[in-house]
Amino acid sequence: MSNPVTDLIHHPYLPPAGFSAPQPGVFKASTVIFKNVAAMRSRDWKHKSGYTYGLHGTPTTFMLEERIATLEAGRHCILVPSGLAAIANVDMALLKAGDEVLLPDNAYGPGKALAEGELANWGITHQLYDPMDPADLAARISSRTRLVWLEAPGSVTMEFVPLAHLAQVCRQRGVLTALDNTWGAGLAFNGFDLGRGDRQVAGSGADIVVQALTKYPSGGGDVLMGSIVTRDGALHERLKLTHMRMGWGVAANDAEAVLRSLPSIALRYRAHDLAARELAAWLKGRPEIAQLLHPAFEGSPGHAHWDALCGGEDGGLAAGLFSVIFDPRYGAGQVDAFCDALRLFKLGYSWGGPISLVVPYDIPAMRRAWPHKGVLVRFSVGLEAPQDLRADLEQALGKMA
Ligand SMILES: *Cc1c(COP(=O)(O)O)cnc(C)c1O
Repeated sequence: MSNPVTDLIHHPYLPPAGFSAPQPGVFKASTVIFKNVAAMRSRDWKHKSGYTYGLHGTPTTFMLEERIATLEAGRHCILVPSGLAAIANVDMALLKAGDEVLLPDNAYGPGKALAEGELANWGITHQLYDPMDPADLAARISSRTRLVWLEAPGSVTMEFVPLAHLAQVCRQRGVLTALDNTWGAGLAFNGFDLGRGDRQVAGSGADIVVQALTKYPSGGGDVLMGSIVTRDGALHERLKLTHMRMGWGVAANDAEAVLRSLPSIALRYRAHDLAARELAAWLKGRPEIAQLLHPAFEGSPGHAHWDALCGGEDGGLAAGLFSVIFDPRYGAGQVDAFCDALRLFKLGYSWGGPISLVVPYDIPAMRRAWPHKGVLVRFSVGLEAPQDLRADLEQALGKMA
């Protein structure tokens, strides 16, 4: 007989096998126990053939990886602790000193900051290209270009870029592409095979598709996570090696939270989208607003590109995000007062959760060329009743006069 303290740790009881429930189990581990030395020595953490260490996967994270790969129509998925970590993992796996990476001028800001900071420190240069002009991208590709980032629509300014054309330019020049698909969430369009419905062209999209699972896949505003999806096994392995060496694992409870939200992602995405379009249409008609930036609306930059990729008989899909530019007669102080006066829309970064959010941005500080004079405000529409959100916007506009 062992001491009871030992029995508490090495208890003989095993629950009956075959437990089955709608929600997968939460397996938590740093240590994984091998049955003998031979199993320990022959461990293989690369191919999901078993378990080696918590950092390299548990049943919970493997399950989420497979589901995200399905969502993005890819084959392999790596989970990382944030959307930004997904961008960093791709950059670090594919770039070395002397290489160059190209980013769209309207890229997610922290991805640019990484290029200006660590990548520059490591001797990796970057250039910003005009994402609305494939010829500008083509002109910037050189023998040092190893990676081109794509994003549709642009962060905050919401221009919908000619994605298929940009990807084609890179493919013709033999340069790898990585798409930040956080806005599309794997629902509005397929990042690997671009084109609408039965006009999808196999392999016309990106080589790598990343997503901030923080946004729509989580849907709760309470989890940070990112994914890196590929179809090519060798490319996946390069990314996975960097993932392993950097130690970018995700926590089981976070993976479980995303697994719980995933079945409702399409319903939520549609609801965010419909409410956002209703509010955007109303705001567009207001005298305080000079320009609406929402790719599903005619007159918004890149609308035709959005329509070709995401449109459809049923209205297509367009997420719950949009921006507006206030008439230049309203200064930054008045626009701040509008944002402060909102009650249901909260001031906060990120999006994809149940609560509507608002952020005023200083665009001239973020973009090389920006033609507008008025202040830009970005809205993320949550899951509140649209009529309540509209009343909130109306009362806050009233505070500006
Ligand atoms: C939010 C976001 C990210 C980063 O996600 P985090 O999980 O917050 O790091 C990356 N790309 C886009 C387009 C995003 O909106």
